[in-house]
Amino acid sequence: MNYSERILTLPPYLFASIDEAKKAMIDKGVDVIDLGVGDPDRPTPPHIVESMVNAVRDPKNHQYPSYVGLPEFRAAVAEWMKKTRNVTIDPKTQVLTLLGSKEGVAHVPFAFINPGDVVLCPNPGYPVYTIGTKFACGVPYEMPLLSKNNFLPDYDAIPKDILKKAKLLFINYPNNPTGAVADKAFFEKTVKFAKENNLVVVHDNAYSEMVYDDYKAPSFLEVPGAMDVGIELYSMSKTYNMTGWRLGFAVGNKDLIAAFGKVKSNIDSGVFDAVQRAGITALTSSQQCVADMNAVYTERRNALITGLKSIGLDVKPQKATFYVWAPVPKGYDSMGFAKLLLEEAGIVATPGVGFGKSGEGFVRFALTKEVNRINEAVERMKKIKSKI
Ligand SMILES: *Cc1c(COP(=O)(O)O)cnc(C)c1O
Repeated sequence: MNYSERILTLPPYLFASIDEAKKAMIDKGVDVIDLGVGDPDRPTPPHIVESMVNAVRDPKNHQYPSYVGLPEFRAAVAEWMKKTRNVTIDPKTQVLTLLGSKEGVAHVPFAFINPGDVVLCPNPGYPVYTIGTKFACGVPYEMPLLSKNNFLPDYDAIPKDILKKAKLLFINYPNNPTGAVADKAFFEKTVKFAKENNLVVVHDNAYSEMVYDDYKAPSFLEVPGAMDVGIELYSMSKTYNMTGWRLGFAVGNKDLIAAFGKVKSNIDSGVFDAVQRAGITALTSSQQCVADMNAVYTERRNALITGLKSIGLDVKPQKATFYVWAPVPKGYDSMGFAKLLLEEAGIVATPGVGFGKSGEGFVRFALTKEVNRINEAVERMKKIKSKI
């Protein structure tokens, strides 16, 4: 059998050994607390489900969808961008419906990258930035996100010869896995950097609404000039507990949206109209469900942070995302500490190195279990404090 290079050169699955160890613990009868996966544990709010049920019954939603998205969905997106971010976009030319933002991340390089072109990707980062780049025969350049820079990339540290070949820049704030946020000053710097180096900016804003302590995550497009250079990806997944539904959208520069749309119209045939109708309900009805979820995550975050501090780990409460990015104790690397947590405390956390080499020295906890389970995890960690 002959396989493509792109399949054969995929990075090894770093979590395989953790997965195996987790399975072994479960087989032994251990009550494992899995804080590994970034998938909301609570169900989709009932008003959204109800709207899907009604839409599914209507035969007008059963045919091929429009590949750019229902006009009503795109109008709801434009209205939501105006209401939440005061960003004005034309629903006809500046919105593209996505089968989740992962699909957007994976396909966007095909619109802007020729073989050998460089794509600037955050490290640690969501793995699809580099993999989508490689699938399009581009070359990822990994920008380290370091604690001393508040997990923002240092554009000045990128070598000139790399910049000459760079065509696309991925950024992601609020950030997975670090939980870091970016202010408008960083986005302004990004616009300047993109204009100087002729880069397309793709801002993955998958955690746009998952925010705490009165923090509000800005849109990249709020910043002057951003609309000239970039697009922004949004996801219904984390905001409305809709990971299974596969719905997101891209907004921004109309020429970039059109180019991206050309790629997509040749790959998929759009999102099931009934799912888009549920999406309209999510975007246009009361956002109380989002505020309620954020209150739930805040309580979980505070419980975990208090617990981690009590065993001596230096963690600060993140302003956004459901990830706690914790430095590992002395004497451990991220795999070693994740193994200790699993084998001695029955807790699954994701080793930071799985998100790229600059993730070494950290583990990621996802706040995707109820607070009583998080408190239980904290109690178990206290019991192994002598090893931490
Ligand atoms: C979860 C996640 C996505 C994918 O979201 P979907 O809309 O479900 O595809 C994209 N980017 C980041 C950073 C994520 O964490």
